[in-house]
Amino acid sequence: MKKMYCMKCGLEIHVKFGMVPNSCACGAEFREWNKDTVKNTVVCIITLLLLMSPLFVIVFFARKILQDSMLLYAIMLVAFIICFRQVEGILIRIGILKINNIEIR
Ligand SMILES: [Zn+2]
Repeated sequence: MKKMYCMKCGLEIHVKFGMVPNSCACGAEFREWNKDTVKNTVVCIITLLLLMSPLFVIVFFARKILQDSMLLYAIMLVAFIICFRQVEGILIRIGILKINNIEIR
């Protein structure tokens, strides 16, 4: 897996739990900039859905249990968000998702 570096200060971006931070210690902000490109957006959504499909399957089969337990529901929601951020990190590193101020080497 390639590493990510800040374009402003050149520091390596430390990924916590697979999640890419929103900004660098030097103040540079990391924002998605190719979201308006239709082709890239479609590729992003398809890859996201593919990578997150195991989670959807779990939710589908566990929906009865989830309905009965608010705590489990909350845990699943958090798992979803974490999973989403991790997939986002993967997309950045394979170059599908372009982020401002991030250089991949
Ligand atoms: Zn920086």
